[in-house]
Amino acid sequence: MKLIDSHCHLDFPDLEAERDEVIARAGKAGVALMVTISTRVRRFDSIRAIAEAYPNVFCSVGTHPHNAGEEEGIPAAEIISLAEHPKVVAIGEAGLDYFYDKAPRDAQAAGFRTHIAAARETGLPLVIHARDADDDVAAILRDETGKGAFPFILHCFSSGRALAETGIELGGYVSFSGILTFKKSEELRAIARDLPRDRLLVETDAPYLAPTPHRGKRNEPAYVAHTATVLAETLAVGNDEIAEITTENAMRIFSRIPRSALNGA
Ligand SMILES: [Zn+2]
Ligand SMILES: [Zn+2]
Repeated sequence: MKLIDSHCHLDFPDLEAERDEVIARAGKAGVALMVTISTRVRRFDSIRAIAEAYPNVFCSVGTHPHNAGEEEGIPAAEIISLAEHPKVVAIGEAGLDYFYDKAPRDAQAAGFRTHIAAARETGLPLVIHARDADDDVAAILRDETGKGAFPFILHCFSSGRALAETGIELGGYVSFSGILTFKKSEELRAIARDLPRDRLLVETDAPYLAPTPHRGKRNEPAYVAHTATVLAETLAVGNDEIAEITTENAMRIFSRIPRSALNGA
């Protein structure tokens, strides 16, 4: 059984101090590959260094919506250029977060569209962060897809059913985090049950959002197995089958990851 943690933050201080151990524990838990996600283009060097240091870690490049104010105006060309590195397999995370509203909404939207342009140009999937912004995320996705298709992932999906359906309709993938395992997430599990199986991914978003039974503690990529187990139960399939489904989906959407990496070569 092989799992892929499609979204974690190995550069964050909570994981940085014992990164070797965290990555080793992931391997023991069946996590063959991890994608560590960039939140600031200006700090991409540290992300790239982590991806270069571990054969089973890949990365993205981009500006989190929280940081869209401080990184306003970074052109798509700069992101595209950084994305030439062979270990970069995605663009982002970018999108809209109206829950925290840490950056002005117009800066978030502008950054989102810049990252879409980079995804369209490179063919690498855009990792989309959406929180309390379903309608605006859907509107931008529709508008931009109209200008030219681009691959994307709705990461840490916790939005409403309509956004999931829009994402699927526009060709996107939906990634579930530890939130899927929480007792009160019945509606989220109902959404997962209804989505096409060839668009489902799992992630940790570590160090945040540890799944049950680690809820409230620091999260790490090894725990993606718990989310995968709940997704398997939700879909009434076995653990091996959900691993195969989500790993094949991840290999398809992260099209730059070589098959040999999955096999540990
Ligand atoms: Zn996010
Ligand atoms: Zn994240």
